[in-house]
Amino acid sequence: MSTSRIAERVRRIKPSPSTSAADRANELRRQGKSIVNLVVGEPDFDTPAHIRQAATQAMDKGATRYTLMAGTVELRQAIVAKLERDSGLHYAMNEIIATSGAKSAIYSAFSITLEPGDEVIIPAPYWVSYPDMTLACDGKPVTVACPEENGFKLTPAQLEAAITPRTRWLLINSPSNPTGAAYTRAEYRALADVLARHPQVLVMTDDIYEHIRFDGQATPHFLQAAPELRDRTLVVNGVSKTYAMTGWRIGYVAGPRDLVQALDTLLSQSTGNCCSISQAAAAAALNGDQSFVGKSVAIYKQRRDATLARINAIPGLSCRVPDGAFYLYIGCAGLIGKRTPEGKVLAQDGDVVMYLLDSVGVAVVAGTAYGLSPYFRLSIATSIEILEEGCKRIARAVAELH
Ligand code: PLP
Repeated sequence: MSTSRIAERVRRIKPSPSTSAADRANELRRQGKSIVNLVVGEPDFDTPAHIRQAATQAMDKGATRYTLMAGTVELRQAIVAKLERDSGLHYAMNEIIATSGAKSAIYSAFSITLEPGDEVIIPAPYWVSYPDMTLACDGKPVTVACPEENGFKLTPAQLEAAITPRTRWLLINSPSNPTGAAYTRAEYRALADVLARHPQVLVMTDDIYEHIRFDGQATPHFLQAAPELRDRTLVVNGVSKTYAMTGWRIGYVAGPRDLVQALDTLLSQSTGNCCSISQAAAAAALNGDQSFVGKSVAIYKQRRDATLARINAIPGLSCRVPDGAFYLYIGCAGLIGKRTPEGKVLAQDGDVVMYLLDSVGVAVVAGTAYGLSPYFRLSIATSIEILEEGCKRIARAVAELH
Protein backbone atom coordinates (compact mmCIF):
# COMPACT_ATOMS: atom_id res chain seq x y z
CA MET A 1 0.00 0.00 0.00
CA SER A 2 1.21 3.51 -0.82
CA THR A 3 2.44 5.69 2.06
CA SER A 4 0.23 8.53 0.77
CA ARG A 5 -3.40 8.65 1.81
CA ILE A 6 -4.21 10.21 -1.55
CA ALA A 7 -4.55 7.84 -4.50
CA GLU A 8 -1.93 8.00 -7.24
CA ARG A 9 -4.51 8.98 -9.89
CA VAL A 10 -5.37 12.06 -7.86
CA ARG A 11 -1.76 12.90 -7.06
CA ARG A 12 -1.21 13.04 -10.85
CA ILE A 13 -3.54 16.00 -11.29
CA LYS A 14 -3.26 19.64 -10.30
CA PRO A 15 -5.83 22.26 -9.35
CA SER A 16 -7.24 24.28 -12.25
CA PRO A 17 -4.73 27.06 -13.11
CA SER A 18 -7.51 29.56 -13.73
CA THR A 19 -8.91 28.90 -10.26
CA SER A 20 -5.41 29.31 -8.79
CA ALA A 21 -4.92 32.60 -10.69
CA ALA A 22 -8.31 33.88 -9.47
CA ASP A 23 -7.45 32.86 -5.89
CA ARG A 24 -4.12 34.74 -6.07
CA ALA A 25 -5.86 37.87 -7.40
CA ASN A 26 -8.48 37.69 -4.64
CA GLU A 27 -5.79 37.28 -1.98
CA LEU A 28 -3.97 40.40 -3.24
CA ARG A 29 -7.28 42.28 -3.26
CA ARG A 30 -7.86 41.24 0.38
CA GLN A 31 -4.42 42.68 1.15
CA GLY A 32 -5.71 46.03 -0.15
CA LYS A 33 -4.15 46.00 -3.63
CA SER A 34 -6.22 47.39 -6.52
CA ILE A 35 -6.76 44.38 -8.78
CA VAL A 36 -8.32 44.18 -12.25
CA ASN A 37 -9.43 40.57 -12.46
CA LEU A 38 -9.53 39.37 -16.07
CA VAL A 39 -9.31 35.69 -15.16
CA VAL A 40 -12.87 34.52 -14.69
CA GLY A 41 -14.46 32.33 -17.35
CA GLU A 42 -18.11 32.93 -16.60
CA PRO A 43 -20.72 35.40 -17.83
CA ASP A 44 -20.99 38.51 -15.66
CA PHE A 45 -24.76 38.72 -16.31
CA ASP A 46 -27.55 37.48 -14.05
CA THR A 47 -29.50 34.42 -15.15
CA PRO A 48 -32.55 35.78 -17.07
CA ALA A 49 -35.70 36.33 -14.98
CA HIS A 50 -37.90 33.76 -16.75
CA ILE A 51 -35.34 31.05 -15.99
CA ARG A 52 -35.13 32.02 -12.31
CA GLN A 53 -38.92 32.04 -12.14
CA ALA A 54 -39.07 28.51 -13.55
CA ALA A 55 -36.84 27.42 -10.66
CA THR A 56 -39.04 29.12 -8.07
CA GLN A 57 -42.14 27.56 -9.56
CA ALA A 58 -40.48 24.14 -9.57
CA MET A 59 -39.75 24.47 -5.85
CA ASP A 60 -43.28 25.65 -5.12
CA LYS A 61 -44.72 22.72 -7.04
CA GLY A 62 -42.63 20.27 -5.01
CA ALA A 63 -40.06 19.39 -7.67
CA THR A 64 -37.57 18.94 -4.86
CA ARG A 65 -37.09 15.19 -5.01
CA TYR A 66 -34.89 12.73 -6.86
CA THR A 67 -35.55 12.71 -10.61
CA LEU A 68 -34.84 10.01 -13.15
CA MET A 69 -31.08 9.50 -13.30
CA ALA A 70 -30.91 10.67 -16.93
CA GLY A 71 -32.86 13.83 -16.11
CA THR A 72 -36.53 14.78 -16.11
CA VAL A 73 -38.59 14.00 -19.18
CA GLU A 74 -39.20 17.75 -19.55
CA LEU A 75 -35.49 18.58 -19.61
CA ARG A 76 -34.58 15.76 -21.96
CA GLN A 77 -37.38 16.77 -24.32
CA ALA A 78 -35.99 20.31 -24.27
CA ILE A 79 -32.51 18.98 -25.11
CA VAL A 80 -33.87 16.82 -27.96
CA ALA A 81 -35.68 19.89 -29.36
CA LYS A 82 -32.61 22.11 -28.93
CA LEU A 83 -30.30 19.73 -30.80
CA GLU A 84 -32.85 19.49 -33.62
CA ARG A 85 -33.45 23.27 -33.75
CA ASP A 86 -29.85 24.47 -33.57
CA SER A 87 -27.98 21.73 -35.42
CA GLY A 88 -30.52 19.49 -37.14
CA LEU A 89 -29.36 16.56 -34.99
CA HIS A 90 -31.91 13.86 -34.15
CA TYR A 91 -31.65 12.13 -30.79
CA ALA A 92 -34.09 9.91 -28.95
CA MET A 93 -34.83 10.50 -25.27
CA ASN A 94 -32.77 7.45 -24.29
CA GLU A 95 -29.73 8.85 -26.08
CA ILE A 96 -29.61 11.88 -23.76
CA ILE A 97 -28.42 12.29 -20.18
CA ALA A 98 -28.34 15.42 -18.04
CA THR A 99 -25.25 15.89 -15.84
CA SER A 100 -24.07 18.25 -13.13
CA GLY A 101 -22.35 20.58 -15.61
CA ALA A 102 -20.50 19.85 -18.85
CA LYS A 103 -17.37 19.38 -16.76
CA SER A 104 -18.73 16.33 -15.01
CA ALA A 105 -20.09 15.04 -18.35
CA ILE A 106 -16.59 15.05 -19.85
CA TYR A 107 -14.98 13.51 -16.79
CA SER A 108 -17.63 10.80 -16.62
CA ALA A 109 -17.31 10.06 -20.34
CA PHE A 110 -13.58 9.49 -19.89
CA SER A 111 -14.27 7.42 -16.84
CA ILE A 112 -16.58 4.98 -18.66
CA THR A 113 -14.32 4.57 -21.71
CA LEU A 114 -10.64 4.87 -20.83
CA GLU A 115 -8.56 1.80 -19.99
CA PRO A 116 -5.16 2.56 -18.44
CA GLY A 117 -2.91 4.09 -21.09
CA ASP A 118 -5.67 4.85 -23.60
CA GLU A 119 -4.91 8.08 -25.41
CA VAL A 120 -6.95 11.26 -25.72
CA ILE A 121 -5.97 13.67 -28.50
CA ILE A 122 -6.27 17.20 -27.16
CA PRO A 123 -5.57 20.04 -29.63
CA ALA A 124 -3.60 22.81 -27.86
CA PRO A 125 -4.34 25.46 -26.76
CA TYR A 126 -6.95 23.55 -24.78
CA TRP A 127 -9.33 24.07 -21.89
CA VAL A 128 -7.20 23.49 -18.81
CA SER A 129 -9.27 20.60 -17.47
CA TYR A 130 -8.99 18.18 -20.39
CA PRO A 131 -5.49 16.80 -19.68
CA ASP A 132 -6.05 16.48 -15.95
CA MET A 133 -9.41 14.77 -16.42
CA THR A 134 -7.72 12.32 -18.77
CA LEU A 135 -5.00 11.62 -16.22
CA ALA A 136 -7.51 11.21 -13.40
CA CYS A 137 -9.21 8.51 -15.49
CA ASP A 138 -5.90 6.68 -16.10
CA GLY A 139 -5.70 7.89 -19.70
CA LYS A 140 -2.78 9.50 -21.52
CA PRO A 141 -3.29 13.06 -22.82
CA VAL A 142 -1.76 13.47 -26.29
CA THR A 143 -1.59 17.21 -26.81
CA VAL A 144 -1.05 18.52 -30.33
CA ALA A 145 0.20 22.09 -30.68
CA CYS A 146 -2.05 24.02 -33.08
CA PRO A 147 -0.17 27.23 -33.81
CA GLU A 148 -1.68 30.61 -34.55
CA GLU A 149 -0.66 30.35 -38.25
CA ASN A 150 -3.22 27.51 -38.49
CA GLY A 151 -5.87 29.58 -36.72
CA PHE A 152 -5.18 27.56 -33.52
CA LYS A 153 -6.92 24.61 -35.20
CA LEU A 154 -5.99 20.97 -35.71
CA THR A 155 -5.11 20.05 -39.29
CA PRO A 156 -5.92 16.66 -40.87
CA ALA A 157 -2.18 15.89 -41.16
CA GLN A 158 -1.67 16.59 -37.46
CA LEU A 159 -4.62 14.38 -36.58
CA GLU A 160 -3.32 11.54 -38.73
CA ALA A 161 0.11 11.79 -37.10
CA ALA A 162 -1.32 11.82 -33.58
CA ILE A 163 -3.54 8.74 -33.92
CA THR A 164 -2.18 5.41 -32.63
CA PRO A 165 -3.85 2.05 -31.99
CA ARG A 166 -4.35 3.29 -28.38
CA THR A 167 -6.25 6.45 -29.36
CA ARG A 168 -9.67 6.42 -27.74
CA TRP A 169 -10.85 10.04 -28.09
CA LEU A 170 -10.40 13.13 -30.19
CA LEU A 171 -11.61 16.21 -28.32
CA ILE A 172 -13.06 19.10 -30.26
CA ASN A 173 -13.99 22.41 -28.59
CA SER A 174 -15.39 24.99 -30.99
CA PRO A 175 -15.48 27.93 -30.39
CA SER A 176 -12.53 27.22 -28.17
CA ASN A 177 -11.56 28.20 -24.71
CA PRO A 178 -9.02 29.91 -24.73
CA THR A 179 -8.61 31.07 -28.36
CA GLY A 180 -12.22 31.54 -29.55
CA ALA A 181 -11.28 29.76 -32.79
CA ALA A 182 -14.16 27.91 -34.46
CA TYR A 183 -13.98 25.15 -37.06
CA THR A 184 -15.78 25.44 -40.37
CA ARG A 185 -17.82 22.62 -41.88
CA ALA A 186 -15.10 22.02 -44.46
CA GLU A 187 -12.45 21.73 -41.74
CA TYR A 188 -14.61 19.24 -39.88
CA ARG A 189 -15.11 17.24 -43.07
CA ALA A 190 -11.35 17.01 -43.60
CA LEU A 191 -10.86 15.76 -40.01
CA ALA A 192 -13.68 13.25 -40.47
CA ASP A 193 -11.96 11.86 -43.57
CA VAL A 194 -8.95 11.03 -41.40
CA LEU A 195 -11.16 9.50 -38.70
CA ALA A 196 -12.79 7.25 -41.30
CA ARG A 197 -9.50 5.34 -41.45
CA HIS A 198 -9.36 4.84 -37.65
CA PRO A 199 -12.53 3.20 -36.39
CA GLN A 200 -11.25 2.90 -32.80
CA VAL A 201 -11.34 6.69 -32.30
CA LEU A 202 -14.36 8.31 -30.63
CA VAL A 203 -15.06 12.03 -30.98
CA MET A 204 -16.16 14.27 -28.15
CA THR A 205 -17.53 17.67 -29.16
CA ASP A 206 -17.52 20.21 -26.33
CA ASP A 207 -20.07 22.70 -27.66
CA ILE A 208 -20.38 24.82 -24.54
CA TYR A 209 -19.57 28.13 -26.37
CA GLU A 210 -21.57 27.36 -29.55
CA HIS A 211 -23.89 30.36 -29.20
CA ILE A 212 -21.22 32.89 -28.29
CA ARG A 213 -20.29 33.74 -31.89
CA PHE A 214 -19.37 37.19 -33.16
CA ASP A 215 -19.81 36.88 -36.90
CA GLY A 216 -23.56 36.22 -36.86
CA GLN A 217 -22.91 32.70 -38.16
CA ALA A 218 -24.46 29.64 -36.58
CA THR A 219 -21.68 27.42 -35.28
CA PRO A 220 -21.59 24.33 -37.49
CA HIS A 221 -21.71 21.04 -35.63
CA PHE A 222 -19.13 18.35 -36.31
CA LEU A 223 -21.97 15.86 -36.95
CA GLN A 224 -23.47 18.08 -39.64
CA ALA A 225 -20.24 17.66 -41.58
CA ALA A 226 -19.77 14.01 -40.63
CA PRO A 227 -23.20 12.42 -40.01
CA GLU A 228 -21.73 8.98 -40.64
CA LEU A 229 -19.74 9.34 -37.39
CA ARG A 230 -22.84 9.70 -35.22
CA ASP A 231 -22.27 6.31 -33.61
CA ARG A 232 -18.75 7.36 -32.60
CA THR A 233 -19.53 10.86 -31.39
CA LEU A 234 -20.50 12.14 -27.97
CA VAL A 235 -22.06 15.60 -28.00
CA VAL A 236 -21.36 17.53 -24.78
CA ASN A 237 -23.07 20.80 -23.99
CA GLY A 238 -24.70 22.69 -21.15
CA VAL A 239 -26.50 25.85 -20.16
CA SER A 240 -23.69 27.51 -18.15
CA LYS A 241 -22.23 29.90 -20.71
CA THR A 242 -25.16 30.57 -23.06
CA TYR A 243 -27.68 31.46 -20.36
CA ALA A 244 -25.37 32.78 -17.60
CA MET A 245 -26.13 29.70 -15.51
CA THR A 246 -22.69 28.60 -14.30
CA GLY A 247 -23.87 28.11 -10.74
CA TRP A 248 -26.88 25.96 -11.64
CA ARG A 249 -24.68 23.08 -12.77
CA ILE A 250 -26.55 21.61 -15.71
CA GLY A 251 -24.73 19.99 -18.60
CA TYR A 252 -25.80 17.23 -20.93
CA VAL A 253 -24.62 14.54 -23.27
CA ALA A 254 -26.18 13.16 -26.44
CA GLY A 255 -24.69 10.07 -27.98
CA PRO A 256 -24.92 6.42 -28.88
CA ARG A 257 -27.06 4.33 -26.58
CA ASP A 258 -24.26 2.15 -25.13
CA LEU A 259 -22.22 5.16 -24.00
CA VAL A 260 -25.24 6.97 -22.57
CA GLN A 261 -26.35 3.80 -20.77
CA ALA A 262 -22.86 3.39 -19.25
CA LEU A 263 -22.90 7.03 -18.15
CA ASP A 264 -26.28 6.45 -16.55
CA THR A 265 -24.92 3.46 -14.61
CA LEU A 266 -21.79 5.27 -13.44
CA LEU A 267 -23.63 8.44 -12.43
CA SER A 268 -26.35 6.46 -10.68
CA GLN A 269 -23.61 5.02 -8.45
CA SER A 270 -21.76 8.32 -7.94
CA THR A 271 -23.50 11.70 -8.13
CA GLY A 272 -27.08 10.53 -8.74
CA ASN A 273 -29.34 12.81 -10.77
CA CYS A 274 -28.47 16.48 -11.11
CA CYS A 275 -30.38 19.11 -9.12
CA SER A 276 -34.15 18.87 -9.76
CA ILE A 277 -34.67 22.63 -9.46
CA SER A 278 -31.81 23.41 -11.84
CA GLN A 279 -33.25 20.91 -14.31
CA ALA A 280 -36.53 22.84 -14.38
CA ALA A 281 -34.58 26.07 -14.90
CA ALA A 282 -32.49 24.54 -17.70
CA ALA A 283 -35.63 23.29 -19.48
CA ALA A 284 -37.03 26.83 -19.32
CA ALA A 285 -33.74 28.19 -20.68
CA LEU A 286 -33.74 25.82 -23.65
CA ASN A 287 -37.48 26.09 -24.41
CA GLY A 288 -38.07 29.75 -23.60
CA ASP A 289 -37.37 33.18 -25.04
CA GLN A 290 -33.87 33.19 -26.54
CA SER A 291 -33.45 36.97 -26.80
CA PHE A 292 -30.97 37.04 -23.88
CA VAL A 293 -28.51 35.11 -26.03
CA GLY A 294 -28.41 37.68 -28.84
CA LYS A 295 -28.26 40.60 -26.40
CA SER A 296 -25.40 39.17 -24.38
CA VAL A 297 -23.45 38.21 -27.50
CA ALA A 298 -23.80 41.80 -28.81
CA ILE A 299 -22.28 43.05 -25.54
CA TYR A 300 -19.44 40.51 -25.67
CA LYS A 301 -18.75 41.64 -29.25
CA GLN A 302 -18.46 45.30 -28.25
CA ARG A 303 -16.06 44.31 -25.50
CA ARG A 304 -14.09 42.06 -27.81
CA ASP A 305 -13.66 44.77 -30.43
CA ALA A 306 -12.72 47.49 -27.93
CA THR A 307 -10.28 45.28 -26.02
CA LEU A 308 -8.73 43.80 -29.14
CA ALA A 309 -8.01 47.28 -30.53
CA ARG A 310 -6.37 48.39 -27.29
CA ILE A 311 -4.29 45.22 -26.91
CA ASN A 312 -3.11 45.20 -30.52
CA ALA A 313 -1.95 48.82 -30.10
CA ILE A 314 0.48 47.77 -27.34
CA PRO A 315 3.96 47.10 -28.75
CA GLY A 316 5.00 43.50 -28.12
CA LEU A 317 1.45 42.14 -27.81
CA SER A 318 -0.77 40.78 -30.57
CA CYS A 319 -4.09 39.02 -30.66
CA ARG A 320 -5.91 37.19 -33.40
CA VAL A 321 -9.61 38.02 -33.75
CA PRO A 322 -11.56 35.31 -31.89
CA ASP A 323 -14.61 33.89 -33.69
CA GLY A 324 -16.43 33.25 -30.43
CA ALA A 325 -16.32 32.45 -26.67
CA PHE A 326 -15.38 35.26 -24.31
CA TYR A 327 -11.61 35.29 -24.18
CA LEU A 328 -8.67 36.91 -25.93
CA TYR A 329 -5.60 34.69 -26.29
CA ILE A 330 -2.86 37.28 -26.48
CA GLY A 331 0.56 36.57 -27.96
CA CYS A 332 3.36 38.06 -25.86
CA ALA A 333 6.43 36.82 -27.78
CA GLY A 334 7.45 40.48 -28.17
CA LEU A 335 7.90 40.80 -24.40
CA ILE A 336 9.96 37.68 -23.86
CA GLY A 337 13.58 38.56 -23.06
CA LYS A 338 12.73 42.09 -21.86
CA ARG A 339 13.62 43.34 -18.38
CA THR A 340 11.32 44.71 -15.72
CA PRO A 341 12.23 47.99 -13.94
CA GLU A 342 13.54 45.75 -11.11
CA GLY A 343 15.87 44.03 -13.58
CA LYS A 344 14.07 40.67 -13.83
CA VAL A 345 14.12 39.08 -17.28
CA LEU A 346 10.73 37.92 -18.60
CA ALA A 347 11.76 34.46 -19.77
CA GLN A 348 8.29 32.97 -20.38
CA ASP A 349 4.60 33.86 -20.38
CA GLY A 350 4.30 32.92 -16.70
CA ASP A 351 6.80 35.71 -15.93
CA VAL A 352 4.77 38.18 -18.00
CA VAL A 353 1.62 37.27 -16.09
CA MET A 354 3.36 37.61 -12.70
CA TYR A 355 4.80 40.96 -13.77
CA LEU A 356 1.36 42.27 -14.80
CA LEU A 357 -0.10 41.18 -11.48
CA ASP A 358 2.70 42.50 -9.28
CA SER A 359 3.36 45.77 -11.12
CA VAL A 360 -0.12 46.96 -12.15
CA GLY A 361 -2.52 44.52 -10.48
CA VAL A 362 -3.90 42.93 -13.67
CA ALA A 363 -4.77 39.25 -13.29
CA VAL A 364 -4.73 37.05 -16.41
CA VAL A 365 -3.79 33.39 -16.99
CA ALA A 366 -0.47 32.27 -18.55
CA GLY A 367 -0.51 30.36 -21.85
CA THR A 368 1.44 27.49 -20.26
CA ALA A 369 -1.83 26.50 -18.56
CA TYR A 370 -3.43 26.02 -22.01
CA GLY A 371 -0.52 24.20 -23.61
CA LEU A 372 0.68 26.87 -26.07
CA SER A 373 3.17 29.60 -25.22
CA PRO A 374 4.03 32.45 -25.13
CA TYR A 375 0.49 33.74 -24.67
CA PHE A 376 -1.86 34.80 -21.91
CA ARG A 377 -5.65 34.56 -21.68
CA LEU A 378 -7.74 37.59 -20.88
CA SER A 379 -11.46 37.15 -20.16
CA ILE A 380 -13.86 39.72 -21.61
CA ALA A 381 -16.70 38.50 -19.39
CA THR A 382 -16.56 41.72 -17.40
CA SER A 383 -17.61 45.33 -17.90
CA ILE A 384 -16.14 47.53 -20.62
CA GLU A 385 -14.91 49.97 -17.92
CA ILE A 386 -12.95 47.23 -16.18
CA LEU A 387 -11.58 46.03 -19.52
CA GLU A 388 -10.47 49.56 -20.43
CA GLU A 389 -8.79 49.98 -17.07
CA GLY A 390 -7.08 46.60 -17.49
CA CYS A 391 -5.77 47.53 -20.96
CA LYS A 392 -4.49 50.90 -19.72
CA ARG A 393 -2.62 49.20 -16.93
CA ILE A 394 -1.16 46.54 -19.24
CA ALA A 395 0.03 49.31 -21.61
CA ARG A 396 1.64 51.13 -18.68
CA ALA A 397 3.41 47.99 -17.46
CA VAL A 398 4.66 47.11 -20.94
CA ALA A 399 5.97 50.67 -21.48
CA GLU A 400 8.23 50.24 -18.44
CA LEU A 401 9.99 47.18 -19.83
CA HIS A 402 13.34 47.55 -21.53
N1 PLP B 1 -15.93 23.17 -21.47
C1 PLP B 1 -15.23 24.31 -21.61
C2 PLP B 1 -14.42 24.50 -22.84
C3 PLP B 1 -15.25 25.30 -20.61
O1 PLP B 1 -14.54 26.43 -20.77
C4 PLP B 1 -16.00 25.06 -19.46
C5 PLP B 1 -16.02 26.05 -18.34
O2 PLP B 1 -15.15 26.87 -18.20
C6 PLP B 1 -16.73 23.88 -19.35
C7 PLP B 1 -16.67 22.94 -20.38
C8 PLP B 1 -17.54 23.55 -18.12
O3 PLP B 1 -18.85 23.92 -18.20
P1 PLP B 1 -19.88 23.60 -17.01
O4 PLP B 1 -20.06 24.86 -16.23
O5 PLP B 1 -21.14 23.20 -17.72
O6 PLP B 1 -19.33 22.51 -16.20
